[in-house]
Amino acid sequence: MKTKIRARPASRKSPAAAAPRPLIPVLEPDLHGNELKYVTECVETNWISSLGRFNDLFEARFREYCKVPHALAVNNGTAALHLALVTLGVKEGDEVLVPDITFAACANAVLHARATPILVDVDPKTWTMDVKAAERAITPRTKVIMPVHLYGHPCDMDAILALAKARGLRVLEDCAQALGSEYKGRPLGSFGDAAIFSFYGNKTATTGEGGMILFQYADHYRAAHGLRSHGMSKEKRYWHVDAGYNYRMTNIQAAIGVAQMERIGEFVAAKRRIAKAYIKGLSGVEGLRMPAEEKGAFNSYWLFTVLLDDRLASHRDDILRRLSEKGIETRPLFYPLHEMPPYKSLQRSLDFPVSGRLSRSGISLPSSYSLTEEQLDYVVRTLTELVRDVR
Ligand SMILES: *Cc1c(COP(=O)(O)O)cnc(C)c1O
Repeated sequence: MKTKIRARPASRKSPAAAAPRPLIPVLEPDLHGNELKYVTECVETNWISSLGRFNDLFEARFREYCKVPHALAVNNGTAALHLALVTLGVKEGDEVLVPDITFAACANAVLHARATPILVDVDPKTWTMDVKAAERAITPRTKVIMPVHLYGHPCDMDAILALAKARGLRVLEDCAQALGSEYKGRPLGSFGDAAIFSFYGNKTATTGEGGMILFQYADHYRAAHGLRSHGMSKEKRYWHVDAGYNYRMTNIQAAIGVAQMERIGEFVAAKRRIAKAYIKGLSGVEGLRMPAEEKGAFNSYWLFTVLLDDRLASHRDDILRRLSEKGIETRPLFYPLHEMPPYKSLQRSLDFPVSGRLSRSGISLPSSYSLTEEQLDYVVRTLTELVRDVR
């Protein structure tokens, strides 16, 4: 049975809630490997909590895959961000540079660490943090730069690392949407002082809910390891050296993760097959722009997203609605964080020439592993017709 990750409770009040399940969901996991077998092992052996062999295996798999010396599995990607920020020394009064276009967890985690997310405009080609704008946003309070590899496209890591080095800042890579992507031949997650991944049900590899933190330095890893489990002393049980958290991953989550990582090569290949089909079918359509794969980038295309030109952008929501009526589930591109109430008032400047325009013109298309050639064809044909129609 396919796992439903978007299920909404049926309600008589809202007509949207009564809409039929889309023919083609935007993202759906593939759990047809050893997931059930490994989860069954957890249940049959009683190792269902956060101790057990799969936790260690899952962390080991990430150290190998990303070529980073330390990995720590946690209960979700937002906890991973928060714990990584605290471990990197982010405290009350500090500032963290976050791209204006990303999932809100990035800014929320900074607020959870009692610091201020300072939003940075994005590059019009890669849609990731504009490094020049990041440089302008630095103040004496800035502690960390958080590049987010949006939809699988790598950030300009050479420029970000050079900036961080010149200004004495830490780098926390958010790879939640970029498992399997590379920058200049090296896996993402291996560039920053720390990096995080999410294993929410729609991410490239899933554990239902789950997250991972990678660290370059052993002292960061040790500190985070303690904080993950209430800051308990390693030498003396139930003696606490820090007021830590419970951010542990269960063995059941890790069991699913290990099974997912057995197929990661296949998953990334499938995402690239989907991207190739969309690019082939849609790049000739007037008014549509394809996502980038810049020189030196290997894009794992977590969620294939196209842009409408300025003339079509005003019809974007209409196009989304009509795609939905035809059984195709889509998503708008992320909204700029600087427009939202929790973050807006914290900004020194609300001058973001790129992010607003980008956000209003973007459509994310179905990108599940299970997509058939016929379904891809149907999405391409339907979108092409709609775009011609509104033009
Ligand atoms: C999904 C996601 C997260 C957080 O993940 P959760 O596991 O849902 O907490 C963080 N950052 C980005 C960019 C994401 O896409």
